[in-house]
Parts: sequence; structure tokens; C-alpha cells
Amino acid sequence: MHHMTLAEIARGLADKKFSSEELTQALLARIAQLDPQLNSFISLTEELALSQAKAADARRANGESGALLGAPIAHKDLFCTQGIRTSCGSKMLDNFKAPYDATVVAKLAAAGAVTLGKTNMDEFAMGSANESSYYGAVKNPWNLEHVPGGSSGGSAAAVAARLLPAATATDTGGSIRQPAAFTNLTGLKPTYGRVSRWGMIAYASSLDQGGPLARTAEDCAILLQGMAGFDPNDSTSIDEPVPDYSASLNGSLQGLRIGVPKEYFSAGLDPRIAELTHNSIKELEKLGAVIKPISLPNMQHAIPAYYVIAPAEASSNLSRFDGVRFGYRCENPDNLMDLYKRSRGEGFGAEVQRRIMVGAYALSAGYYDAYYLKAQKIRRLVKNDFMAAFNEVDIILGPTTPNPAWKLGAKSSDPVAEYLEDVYTITANLAGLPGLSMPAGFVDGLPVGVQLLAPYFQEGRLLNVAHQYQLNTDWHTRTPTGF
Ligand code: GLN
Repeated sequence: MHHMTLAEIARGLADKKFSSEELTQALLARIAQLDPQLNSFISLTEELALSQAKAADARRANGESGALLGAPIAHKDLFCTQGIRTSCGSKMLDNFKAPYDATVVAKLAAAGAVTLGKTNMDEFAMGSANESSYYGAVKNPWNLEHVPGGSSGGSAAAVAARLLPAATATDTGGSIRQPAAFTNLTGLKPTYGRVSRWGMIAYASSLDQGGPLARTAEDCAILLQGMAGFDPNDSTSIDEPVPDYSASLNGSLQGLRIGVPKEYFSAGLDPRIAELTHNSIKELEKLGAVIKPISLPNMQHAIPAYYVIAPAEASSNLSRFDGVRFGYRCENPDNLMDLYKRSRGEGFGAEVQRRIMVGAYALSAGYYDAYYLKAQKIRRLVKNDFMAAFNEVDIILGPTTPNPAWKLGAKSSDPVAEYLEDVYTITANLAGLPGLSMPAGFVDGLPVGVQLLAPYFQEGRLLNVAHQYQLNTDWHTRTPTGF
């Protein structure tokens, strides 16, 4: 049962081959058996799952249908879930039970999705390896000695290991696409404003965006359909109709103009990943696409700009965790200042503290213009590069990451080395553009992803290209040994 995709599950449920309750029970048993190797879940929600599964079965028996009705999923543990621990991977929120559901959680529940649990993640979504979680590192099912990518590493490892067909995730600088690439999944970061951020614990509010992680583009279309849409509770949510993403999958790629930025193929890229990227380009050419060389001249400035803007926003967002209103509080404080200092010092891990300090520094009176304002100007230049490119091409293609998944611990003492791995993903967040990573081959037994970027609100185009590619390749069907 665990090998089915969301699309296959929807067909099986509609044809009464099995019930959602049976499927849910089978997957919960599989998680209990296999997750100890991976550590991909922070919390399991067995009771909720079984009651949601029964309710979905009853709705189907009453004649209701829907691709998500009875489909098992999990949520990254930064989406608030009412009455259920929502930890954000942090000791700070280890005892936090959210008093309400995030919009994404509520929408998927209304569509009939079954929540199996909450997935592990880098603390406050800061990281590219899922090693900064208070609940311990997540392992990559393709090689248990390697990282699964981050910050949505729990969602990625669980889906890649066939513990469940799909999961929600979030992407501030690559945290959907990079773990997708490292674990042989398809992951989509939507246009900024497409998916509500209400109830999604904030890291960097102008960059954060929720989206689906699944095995196929077809499944990403199904899950995105359930997540997307205007939400009056999120002031940056955009009031645009949501297209039928599954209906966009089968468009022809004849004449599709694919831009390939020359800056992507620089010295930092593993030559074996470059070769796999070129192979995927050839595959799309066979399907009728036309390749055009393009340039994104400001790409080199994107990492420094992002690692000023994201920490700046984080330092502001995380100031609410003060040991007073909710979250962790230190024992026996001497006075108010001691309570603040020790609650935050003991509640936040090292990477989060580093980012708060960097962000507070960049925003301070004497340095605001030199760092924060400068970074915002670079952000505009990065966006302008994309706008110019999209006058010439329909889609931009390149590698998702410069290297395959590294060994656990290999970069944990060198944060800058880890930041540099985000080179291909963060530009889409700076510009607010949608991006997708899809499986494109293997290097030393580890999966490699190819990234597609499209103009605003063209998620359907990304899914279309990825689906056509997946109809003609079988990388996405490969399963890690032992799972
Ligand atoms: N690796 C990036 C960071 O650490 C992106 C994380 C994310 O997308 N949440 O900030």
C-alpha cells in the first residue's frame, strides 16, 4: 500500500479497493517500524488520523469525492495544529500546543486529508541540512549517513522513505526544493502570496512560503490545490483565483522557451550535476522545448543579501519568544532581565541565536543603511534580472543544488559553507517567484534535482513541464533500498 502516490490513492479509494482507515493504519504501522532510523517525525497524531480517516470514509460512502478525501499526509511542525504540539523544531516551543489551526492545515482538513503527524525540521526553519532541530538530525533514506536537506528534511525523508505519499513544507530560501533534490522528490515553492502564511510560524515573513513535497508533479498539483488560495487573515495573501493545477499537467511542450543561465554553470557546481542537468535539458528538447542561453548577472550577490534580510526579519519575528507569554521559561529567574536572557539563551539553539545576533546587528541604527538597505537594493536587482529573462523565455532551468547531500556533520561547524549550498534556490525567494525541483538522476547513489523557475503565478506551467518530463523519465520512481 505504501508505494502508492496521492493520485493512485485517490483512484483506489474511489474504486473502494481499500478504505482510508485501512490505509492510515498501514502507514502508521510502517512509520512505527521504520521511522526510528530516520527521525522524520516530531509528533505522531494517531488518534486524530484514525478519526479523520473514518470521517473521510463516511463522506465517500455518502457520495462525496475529491483527490484529497481520505489521503494521508503530514505537516511540517511549523504549521499550527489545534491542541497538538507545534514545536518549530525548537526547545522554545517544545511545550506549545497551538490554540488554532493554520489556514493550510484547516483547508487540507476540510478537503478530507488525514494528518498522520508533524514532521521534523531545522529549528525555526533555519538550515539546509536538518541538523539544527532540538529533536535531533533527520537521516536521508538514500544513505543514512547523509543529511536529507533542510529545513523541511523531516517531510522529505518521510515521503522519500514511503512512510506517506506527500507532506506540507515551507521554503524561505530553498527548504522545499533543496530537500526534494536530496531525497529524489518533487517539491514546489509557490509564488509569494499564493499560499496563506496564517498560522505558519514566521521565520522571514517576506520570503516564507508554504508548498507541497511529494514524489511526482501530479501529486504536487493535488496537494497545492488544497493549500492555495486567498486568505483575509494573511495581509500578503493574494486575491487571485486558483487555477485547476491537475488540468494544466498535460499541455504540450512544443515551442516552450527554456532559459539556461550561464551563471549557473560556474566553478562551484559539481560537474556530475552539471552533466545531469544537461541531460534533462536534452530530454525536454526531445519534447519540443527550445533552449536559450540567458544571464542573471546579479546572482552572485544573492547569498549575501539573503543572509542579511532573512536574519533581520528573523530577529524581529523571534523577539516574541521572551519567556513570558508562551514557550520556554527558565527556572528561578533572579529578575525580569535574567528571565529574558536565560529563557532565550536556553530555549534557542546555536544557529537561531547566531541569526538573531546577525539580524539585530544589521538592523541597528549605525549599520541599517550599510547592510539592510543595501541588501534590499540587491533584492530589487535580482528581481529585475528575472523580469528581463522572462521577457525572453517561459521557464528557467538549472541545478537545484551545487552538490548532492553531504555527510551528517560535514558542514555543521561551518555555517557559511552550508549557506553557500543555497546558491540556486534563494533567488526565487528574493524575487517571490515560484520554483520546482524534480528528480534528474544520481551521483554516488545520492539523488540530484533540477530546478525550474517560472513567472509569478505560473505554478501550472512548472507542474506541466515536470509532469511531461516525468512521463518520459523514471528517476522519480526510484525507491531507496530498505524502504
Ligand atoms: N537554508 C536557508 C536558511 O537557512 C533556507 C531555509 C528555508 O528555506 N527555510 O535560511
